[in-house]
Amino acid sequence: MKKIVFAIIFLIISSCALTQESKRKNKDIALKYAETITYKELNVLLTSFASDEFEGRKTGEDGQKKAANFLRDFYSKEGIKSPQENNNYFQIVPASFMNPLSRQGGLNDSENVVAFIKGSEKPDEIIVISAHLDHLGRAYTRAINYGADDNGSGTVAILEIAQAFKKAVEDGKGPKRSILFLHVTGEEQGLLGSKYYTENPIFPIKKTVANLNTDMIGRVDVKHQKNPNYIYLIGSDKLSTELHDISETVNKKYLNLSLDYSYNDDDDPNLYYYRSDHYNFAEFNVPVIFYFSGTHIDYHEPSDTSDKINYEQLENRARLIFYTAWEIANRKDRIVADKATKE
Ligand SMILES: [Zn+2]
Repeated sequence: MKKIVFAIIFLIISSCALTQESKRKNKDIALKYAETITYKELNVLLTSFASDEFEGRKTGEDGQKKAANFLRDFYSKEGIKSPQENNNYFQIVPASFMNPLSRQGGLNDSENVVAFIKGSEKPDEIIVISAHLDHLGRAYTRAINYGADDNGSGTVAILEIAQAFKKAVEDGKGPKRSILFLHVTGEEQGLLGSKYYTENPIFPIKKTVANLNTDMIGRVDVKHQKNPNYIYLIGSDKLSTELHDISETVNKKYLNLSLDYSYNDDDDPNLYYYRSDHYNFAEFNVPVIFYFSGTHIDYHEPSDTSDKINYEQLENRARLIFYTAWEIANRKDRIVADKATKE
């Protein structure tokens, strides 16, 4: 009798544990897909993207167009479609738009690259994950500016994030809201591709829930040599308290990186909030987070090469962005821009 009682108690306890376990797994479905973002794949992608073949990806030049084709071919192979007609992955950014605004002028037509995962419940609400694909081309010495960190790192992070979302879709676990993967051109000429996109959006800006932008997320700066588990976040609390809180919560739950807000300070002389593509979204009151690992001696030099990237940290940062996007895309209500300026 005693034995039977014990056996029953044991069964009850173990079945409780099982429900707990399956609950946890269900809740942490994001974990499964985040883990498909790996330093190995990031390494393979970035070694190609920051290679000689793309000649430093100068806006409108052959190397940049080859880089755009590389991104298109990746999405096409992964079965991630363009949101545009005829599955056209390119949004042309005309020279006539760029040249009056550009630093140097004399630019050729260029292109943003766009890929899309349609939301299962609220497809009209869009989360934009962005990174600039262009760089400086060749230096005056004719040496190639590889731009592995700037911004090959952000570019390949987006590819891996897109692949993770696609795998979730294939398992019937796709995001409730839609995700636009936006590789902008002309950043190095003055944030031109993102300016063009926000003025000529594929989806209405009013339906754009948030922009998560990456620009240089592959290195460890001098300040963080002792604790490389970090990332600078800029802008997260400027338009939406909720976005900032989500970002913090998700980080604590999954990664526990040290989130460094030094550059988020309005008094910081670097003014990074105004210096990458997210700012064009913020101008339209779209809440943004800018992810950045800081500058280094190879910044805007031919020595910004793929062998100097810290791939473990790039993986962590890409996963953080994935988890944040996952939460924004799947939570019940759209995040509120409580600090938006009045129109
Ligand atoms: Zn950059």
